[in-house]
Amino acid sequence: MSRFFSGKYDALTPYTPGEQPRGQTFIKLNTNESPYPPAPLAQQYAKKEAEKLNLYSDPQCRDLMAMAAEKLGVREDQILFTNGSDEVLNFAFMAFCDAAHPAVFPDITYGFYPVFARLNGVPYTEIPLQEDFSVCVEDYIGLNQTIFLANPNAPTGICLPLSDIERIVAGNPDSVVVIDEAYIDFGGESAMALIPKYDNLLVVQTFSKSRSMAGARLGFGAGNAALIRDLNTIRYSTNPYNINRMTMAAGVGALEADGYFQVNCRRIVETREWTGEKLSALGFLVIPSMTNFVFVKHPEVPGRDLYLALREKGILVRHFDTPKLTDYNRITIGSREQMKALVAALNEILEVAP
Ligand code: PMP
Repeated sequence: MSRFFSGKYDALTPYTPGEQPRGQTFIKLNTNESPYPPAPLAQQYAKKEAEKLNLYSDPQCRDLMAMAAEKLGVREDQILFTNGSDEVLNFAFMAFCDAAHPAVFPDITYGFYPVFARLNGVPYTEIPLQEDFSVCVEDYIGLNQTIFLANPNAPTGICLPLSDIERIVAGNPDSVVVIDEAYIDFGGESAMALIPKYDNLLVVQTFSKSRSMAGARLGFGAGNAALIRDLNTIRYSTNPYNINRMTMAAGVGALEADGYFQVNCRRIVETREWTGEKLSALGFLVIPSMTNFVFVKHPEVPGRDLYLALREKGILVRHFDTPKLTDYNRITIGSREQMKALVAALNEILEVAP
């Protein structure tokens, strides 16, 4: 830290992104990316747009808005696009949290929430998940705090049914409830349908996972028009050109090619089920997942040893070195070939394990 760094960040520990290796070719199952390339149409539109990079991007994202209104079933004043969904999550902490409206989220969830809270000087509380890693809905009723819930949750992969999400939104009419649906396209039921009914609901989604665009950085928040106006106040006060031209064009292509996206989601769900069966047969406890990853532990081999042994064999998975999660590894669902290589590697590792 330099002697100039503001003391207001003393309590800030930055988020640690999953490893992005260079050089050695790993099978990368550590950051929940899609194994499939972006839709051909998305690539085509992005390439074409490269010719116009001398011009600023459209701060109103009009083409993308129009396509989203058509494909996602929201009005244009009910949606805001951001540089990855991380950006809209940060905006939500900035816009809807302060000392009078502290943040609240589960103790095991997306690791960026406490970082955003600290970055913005927002007090927060963490509600412990239940023994089986599920969210206890009762814990989230009448809180009078800004609620952040990843549904499905990460890194557990567990999804609450829409009826439970609605109970939480309805049970906190005077607080904003942010439902982070980064993984919703892999089997869960989205809360987008509730937007016309509740003025306190913000649904956050991303193009990073199911739409194969992690490297493009595109996400959105959808909710009541007044909430979206507030988020736009923050956006126009930080970076109105937050979506670059190529990403915006790729986003239009990705939405237009929704058949491509649906086929990929189906393939990932099928591979997830296949992987779950293979890992269970190897003795793993596999938490039922509604995402593009599985969260698993083996009764005999510590999580970190497995992570290191897989790494040795050229396969990267995500291990979290915190007491409650240390037995587990989070494994992204890749292509069928990648998952076959994972199962083969685990077979070898477990044969030689004591
Ligand atoms: N929410 C959750 C639960 C996530 O796991 C991630 C991905 N790390 C994000 C949001 C952010 O994704 P992105 O910024 O790529 O849209």
